[in-house]
Amino acid sequence: ETRDIATPSRTKEILKKHGFTFKKSLGQNFLTELNILRKIVETAGIDGNTNVIEVGPGIGALTEQLARNAAQVLAFEIDDRLLPVLQDTLAPYPNVTVVHQDVLEADLVKTTGEVFTKDLPIKVVANLPYYITTPIMMHFLESDLPVAEMVVMMQREVADRISAAPGTKAYGSLTIAVQYYMEAKLAFIVPKTVFVPQPNVDSAILKLTRRPTPAVAVTDEQAFFRLTKAAFQLRRKTLWNNLLHAYGKDDATKAWLTKSLEEADIDPKRRGETLSLAEFAALSNALEANRG
Ligand code: SAM
Repeated sequence: ETRDIATPSRTKEILKKHGFTFKKSLGQNFLTELNILRKIVETAGIDGNTNVIEVGPGIGALTEQLARNAAQVLAFEIDDRLLPVLQDTLAPYPNVTVVHQDVLEADLVKTTGEVFTKDLPIKVVANLPYYITTPIMMHFLESDLPVAEMVVMMQREVADRISAAPGTKAYGSLTIAVQYYMEAKLAFIVPKTVFVPQPNVDSAILKLTRRPTPAVAVTDEQAFFRLTKAAFQLRRKTLWNNLLHAYGKDDATKAWLTKSLEEADIDPKRRGETLSLAEFAALSNALEANRG
């Protein structure tokens, strides 16, 4: 019989046995509440026909619950001090592979190809290190790995931004960068009390489902993302001011912007946060078509 890792007493025991001390700089806040972990596994719909990638297994609390339900689990952990701990705690689960690597440096296509023995849908499930939530999300979204779904824990504020609707305060270039690829839904809120040590902010579980094709059709993805970043650069300024700031204030640029805004049927006096993904796409496509 194996005892669950994710209880306050077992966690304490494991930390003590291995003389482990937390590194704040690595975003180490470990989950010690089984119900939350079970809810994460359920939200992600993990079963024997799913392969899972986990970022930052810590001492294996979530990894263990994933391993009991998934075909295989591949976990990336940056902290070498956790490797002997994981070897110990995850010994009962032969379907887990821990890779000692910064996930941002990982070649996801290559490593999954080496580790996963069956060609099954891949889901990313993780309690993310909060200091690099956005880079990790973008690393997965921009990789060529076909990730079907991501169920990830992050600061509530970032989860709100990613799942935001146009016209709200939380809506911004991060919303668009993620929603371009994935449908985003806030699944549930997690109180700080279920972690050791307790973080300063509340957390949320975000469920992201891959769209069959991107949310909008753009002729140039890089130009589209450059435009959405530019539109939110100066938060309280109009779209027009932001565009001049990003693209230039000379007459030729002004004429190019004016023509494109007209074609896309967008009032330059609007603010960036009121534009939908479809409107940004229309504007970006007009800008590209009208380039001199
Ligand atoms: N999954 C465990 C849990 O839920 O209890 C631990 C989650 S903790 C919030 C984040 C984990 O990510 C830590 O184990 C930390 O060492 C690891 N980590 C931090 N930066 C990383 C990176 N760049 N690549 C891989 N793992 C990282």
